[in-house]
Amino acid sequence: MIRRFFAYYRPYKGLFMLDFGCAIVAGLLELAFPMAVNAFIDDLLPGGKWDLIIWASVGLVALYAINTGLMYIVNYWGHTLGINIETDMRRKLFSHIQKLSFRFFDNTKTGHLVGRLSNDMNMIGEMAHHGPEDLFIAVMTLAGSFALMLAINWKLAVMTFIVVPAIIWVVAYFNGKMTKAIHQLFRDIGDFNARIEDNVGGIRVVKAFSNEPFEEKRFAENNGRFRLTKLTSYKLIAKNGSISYMMMRFVTLFVMVCGTWFVIQNQLTYGEFVGFLLLTNVFFRPIEKINAIVENYPQGFAGFKRYTELMDTEPDVADAPNAGELAAFESDVEFDRVSFGYEGEKKVLQSVSLTIRKGETIAFVGPSGAGKTTLCSLLPRFYEVEEGAIRIDGVDIREVTQESLRRQIGIVQQDVFLFNGTIRENILYGKLDAAEAEIWEAARRARLDEFIQAQENGLDTVIGERGVKLSGGQKQRLAIARMFLKNPPILILDEATSALDTETELAIQQSLAELSRGRTTLVIAHRLATIKDADRIVVVTEEGIAEQGRHRDLIAAGGVYSRLHQAQFGAVSV
Ligand code: ADP
Ligand code: MG
Repeated sequence: MIRRFFAYYRPYKGLFMLDFGCAIVAGLLELAFPMAVNAFIDDLLPGGKWDLIIWASVGLVALYAINTGLMYIVNYWGHTLGINIETDMRRKLFSHIQKLSFRFFDNTKTGHLVGRLSNDMNMIGEMAHHGPEDLFIAVMTLAGSFALMLAINWKLAVMTFIVVPAIIWVVAYFNGKMTKAIHQLFRDIGDFNARIEDNVGGIRVVKAFSNEPFEEKRFAENNGRFRLTKLTSYKLIAKNGSISYMMMRFVTLFVMVCGTWFVIQNQLTYGEFVGFLLLTNVFFRPIEKINAIVENYPQGFAGFKRYTELMDTEPDVADAPNAGELAAFESDVEFDRVSFGYEGEKKVLQSVSLTIRKGETIAFVGPSGAGKTTLCSLLPRFYEVEEGAIRIDGVDIREVTQESLRRQIGIVQQDVFLFNGTIRENILYGKLDAAEAEIWEAARRARLDEFIQAQENGLDTVIGERGVKLSGGQKQRLAIARMFLKNPPILILDEATSALDTETELAIQQSLAELSRGRTTLVIAHRLATIKDADRIVVVTEEGIAEQGRHRDLIAAGGVYSRLHQAQFGAVSV
């Protein structure tokens, strides 16, 4: 784990050495100052050698100046190191998340991922900078000042150190409590964010039900809990601060009293006395700092642990090591005894076989939950088949790259997802490098051009989050325009018009018909009227494919399809 953490320092070896080196020198200087004061008082003062005193003063000033510079380097360049590492980790995590498959996202809360990319990364960045440096310096100044104090007067040193275990115990005791409080604080913040995300995302539902007071009450509960946790942690910080302050002053007084006694006994010079007192301060500083360290380490490491967990999550669907490019679609798509289930043993599809020839329009109908969407999402390999295989022109889709496979498949769904941005950006999503003329051509064929022209900002009209500023029909047309740009040979229309009113549906159907011209099309239809002219109708039930054929033949056969048809239209029409 620690090894893995340090691997991220590798690109910044120079920066790390600079930061670490400066920190070490600064730490050594901290130790040197008390000794210099010691020598100053004992060796220079008594003789009153002015020229030496002046030179020594100049030397001390120079040392302080150097230390100031070192501190700047440690603060600025050290943080640069931390930020670089944080940026690298965040980029790696984001691109890893892009590679994860549908199954992962089905089971993951958006808020968690957001938290990992923002909060966790901040804490890791802090640790990446302060972690090794603080720990090393703490140990160094502790050991260094300890040794120097022993060297000055071992009896006084031993007497001073007797109280150390008590101080460490107090600090550790509060740290334990503090860590707990901080974990609670993070959980509270997480709940908080989730609540806000849910509320704002669903604000239209909240308002439609007039449930604002209910939402406010729920929020107030979260807010109150957060307040209590925060108060608890501040109380701990205050208690800890007061107690450690008191103990340190106590030790200083103790050293003063004992030191005075040693001075009177002629076992300690004035210079040694002052030097010793200053060293006591140097000695206790890291102990005070342990607070920060003990706080940052568990947080940073907990964050890093979550980071590695996510980085170690293997995508369920991945390119084979020797995956090639899928050649341009030539002849047929074959589902060969395909079985698939989302969870455990429960199968949604059981040994389904089906061949779709190039240019064919094939319609899937059947009760909701039968597995039509599932069947279609196996073709772009959103999920991996469990048994059997799907082949395009005889090539197993697991043997080609996902990119080359998905380039040839376009999907238009019932709930169109549009990105917050402009019409242009959303159409361009179909082909990122399309020229202006291509965008307009796509818009024209999707019959969205008149709408765009009527807008003040034209293609640069902002459509709001998920396209809230567009009507259902306009959203669907935008999705169709996007698909014209992408221009895939295979098209999946999954209840693309089911959410629309009949009139809009009819209008959109014409655009969809134009979109599917010359393409192999898989249509999932809720309303049977829309698929009467399909080359083949496949009836999917929970038992699998119940029957298939042309509309006319299926009606004549009097099976599931004719019953579905009767349910929708009352009488049989051929
Ligand atoms: P259809 O499109 O025919 O209405 P689906 O293919 O969407 O049916 O769903 C088939 C079955 O699989 C349903 O029982 C549904 O609950 C289940 N299902 C669909 N999507 C998921 C998913 N992402 N995770 C788990 N189960 C799912
Ligand atoms: Mg469906």
